[in-house]
Amino acid sequence: MNVSLLDLAAEYRSLRAAIDEAVLEVLASGQFISGARVAALEQAIAALCGVAHGVAVASGTDALVLPLLALDVRPGDEVITTPFTFFAPTEMLLLRGARPVFVDIDPETFCLDPAQVEAAITPRTVGILPVHLYGHPADLTALASIAARHHLWLIEDAAQAIAARHQDRPVGSFGRAAAISFYPTKNLGAYGEGGMIVTGDAALAHTLRLLRNHGSPRYAHHTLLGTNSRMDEMQAAILRVKLGQLPAWTEARRRHAARYTAAFAGTAVVPPVERAGDTHVYHQYTIRAPDRTALQQRLVEAGVQTRVYYEEPLHLQPVLADHGYRPGQFPVTERACAEVLSLPVHPQLSEAQVEYVIEQITAARHPPSDVRKAGR
Ligand SMILES: *Cc1c(COP(=O)(O)O)cnc(C)c1O
Repeated sequence: MNVSLLDLAAEYRSLRAAIDEAVLEVLASGQFISGARVAALEQAIAALCGVAHGVAVASGTDALVLPLLALDVRPGDEVITTPFTFFAPTEMLLLRGARPVFVDIDPETFCLDPAQVEAAITPRTVGILPVHLYGHPADLTALASIAARHHLWLIEDAAQAIAARHQDRPVGSFGRAAAISFYPTKNLGAYGEGGMIVTGDAALAHTLRLLRNHGSPRYAHHTLLGTNSRMDEMQAAILRVKLGQLPAWTEARRRHAARYTAAFAGTAVVPPVERAGDTHVYHQYTIRAPDRTALQQRLVEAGVQTRVYYEEPLHLQPVLADHGYRPGQFPVTERACAEVLSLPVHPQLSEAQVEYVIEQITAARHPPSDVRKAGR
C-alpha cells in the first residue's frame, strides 16, 4: 500500500465539475484580478475567522509582511516570535530590518511558550508574532493579555491553522491581524499562490488594501509605498469552491488524528496534544518518535511518506549567523527538531490507509527510550 502525505489530485477529482465550472466562468468573464470573486472570498474568510475584514493578497508570506509595513515596523524594532516554524515570519521581520527575538516553545503544543515571553520584552519590543503550528492554536489568551499589558501588537501566523479555535473563538480573531496562507498544501489551498490578512481593525484593513496595490487609492495616484500583492480571480474562484468542503475536510483530519492518537497510547511514539479549550485542525499530525531516522526509514520501505517539520531551528539558520544565537539556547525547540515526524493525515486518506500506517508504526521495534517522559 502507498500512503502519501498529500493527494491533491484526488482532492481535485472529488470536486472536478464544480472547480472546472468556476474556472471557466472566470475565463469567460474577462476579469482576472481583484474582482467580485476575490471580494466574496474576503468576506467568507473574514466571517470564518470571526472578524470584519479580509484582505486577499498574493501569498501567506505577503500576509505577514504587509501588516508589518502597515504597523510601521522599523529597523531596530524587536518582535518576539518562535524559533520552531517555517522561515517566513522570521524572514519578513528581517526583511523589514526588525530583530526577531526568539523564545522557546511549549513542549506539548510546539507553539510559543507565553511563560517565557514577558522576560524577553525590552523597551524596543513592538509586537508578538506567534505561529499556530501544525494547526494547534498558540496560547492566545495568555499572549493577548501580555500584549495588552505591554501595549504591543499581536499578529497571528495562522497559515497552518485556518478554522482552528481557542476558547471557542476562531484563530485570527485574537490578534490585531492574522495571516492565512492558501499555498496548495495548506488545509485550504489554492491551485497556485494566495494568502489573506484578516483583521477586525477597519483602518488597518484600509491601509492593507492600499499597500497590496502600490499604495494607490485610484489609478496612478500613490499615497503610500506599497507593492503588487493582489489575488487573482481564478484562485479566488477555486478557493470558494474548496471552502465549502473545509468543514468536512477538517472533520476528516480530526477523525484520522483521533484514530492515530488512540492507537499510539502505550507505544513508544508520543502523539500530539490537543489542549482543553482548543480545536486542533491537524494541518500536520506530528508525533515525537524515539529513533526517528529508523522509524522514517521503515515507513519509507512500507510505502508510507512522512516528513520532518522542521529539522533546523530558525535561531541556528545561517542567515541569522550574526544575531548572536547559539546551539543549546532553546532546548525544547532543539529537542523537537530531533524528534518530530509528521504522518499522513490529509482528508482523502481512507480508513484502511490510516490503519495501515498504524500497523507499520506499532509493529516497529523501538529501542528503549526516555522520549515519552522527557517529551512532556
Ligand atoms: C506556509 C506558511 C507561511 C507562508 O505562506 P505562503 O503562502 O507559502 O507564502 C507562513 N507561515 C507559516 C507557518 C507557514 O506554514
